[in-house]
Amino acid sequence: MATQPQKRPASSQSRTPAKRKKKRSPQGFLYAAITLIFVFMVLATVLICLLVGCNEQSTDESYEESFSESSAAESSTPESKPDNSTPEQSEPEESSKEESVVIPVGSTEAYEKYIGVEYKVDMTDYEQYVCPENEKEFVFVVNPKHPLASDFVPENLVKCTYFRETQPSSWSKINATANKALEAFLKEAAYYGFDDITVTSAYRSYNSQASIYQRYFDNDIKQDYVCDTCAEYFDISYFPEKVVKLERCSACKGAFTELDGEKYCESCMSVADTAKVACCAKCGSAVRRPTEAETEKHVLTYSTKPGTSEHQSGLCCDMHNQANSTSAFDNTPEAKWLAANAHRFGFILRYPPNTQHITGIKHESWHFRYVGRTAATEMYEKGLTLDEYCAETEE
Ligand SMILES: [Zn+2]
Ligand SMILES: [Zn+2]
Ligand SMILES: [Zn+2]
Repeated sequence: MATQPQKRPASSQSRTPAKRKKKRSPQGFLYAAITLIFVFMVLATVLICLLVGCNEQSTDESYEESFSESSAAESSTPESKPDNSTPEQSEPEESSKEESVVIPVGSTEAYEKYIGVEYKVDMTDYEQYVCPENEKEFVFVVNPKHPLASDFVPENLVKCTYFRETQPSSWSKINATANKALEAFLKEAAYYGFDDITVTSAYRSYNSQASIYQRYFDNDIKQDYVCDTCAEYFDISYFPEKVVKLERCSACKGAFTELDGEKYCESCMSVADTAKVACCAKCGSAVRRPTEAETEKHVLTYSTKPGTSEHQSGLCCDMHNQANSTSAFDNTPEAKWLAANAHRFGFILRYPPNTQHITGIKHESWHFRYVGRTAATEMYEKGLTLDEYCAETEE
């Protein structure tokens, strides 16, 4: 920007001495020489300015690049305490990571270097479980399209170390490898101050899932509502405020007006009795109970029919520090830390936000699935759900 105004005085000054040249006096030559030198200096200055300008721009760009790189790297590091310095995140490492997508297997140190974060927990006893030799055996999908047989019971179930004792003991078992990896995961969490996370449900049998699904269904069909005006289903367990009791015509549940102290229903076209009626808080229309099909569709957004639950695999668990597994856990520091670090211990957040169209299940900040560190890291880095990852590797 500054180059334009600088150019102008330079050229105008060069013109003035040119006029004097006509006099051909020795002074004129001197003036001309001085002017030439001056013009050269100005031109040189302009050139230097241009060059510096370019340089500044390119440093800006590279700064932005390195910034976005480091922020991307940051998101893969723990919700860091200042203590968690990650000097390993030097640029050559970043670029070598891009070149070779090979995630180191079988070495804690190599993996730490690759990911740019050191484990705080001693991994000596855990490496073989976080990244076992038979890693690939853990990578498969359980969902309505890929159900488990009603008599399928996983081998190698053990009592989950971090199980919350107030929960039904029939939910306390988990795959032995996953349990060890989970131990490392939650020890690491404790190091960062998240020391009250416990597992509320791990392996659930086919029959257990059947009764859970039935309980949800029975509960929801009894208490939930549908607003036909808004075309919305209201799960009263989670959103009781979405339905309010309003005074409506008791015959048609329509709105009424006060007419000379009487209540006149505009739908019935007559003076009407009124009653408190359940209405949509948003639009004020009377709501109705859902049909069985509507409730089933709704329950399937957060639970699964027997045989289609990942819990039957013994490879996942619900864990948090709340009374129940609800969205109240979503934005807690604990939930964020678990989601950002699960892959380092072979776990994935199985139902991430905004993936219901892929997984079929709403975001569950508490549900983690063991798949082994290599697959977990790859999914984390690529932002893939297990469904997408398996579809990709099937091809
Ligand atoms: Zn409504
Ligand atoms: Zn009416
Ligand atoms: Zn779960």
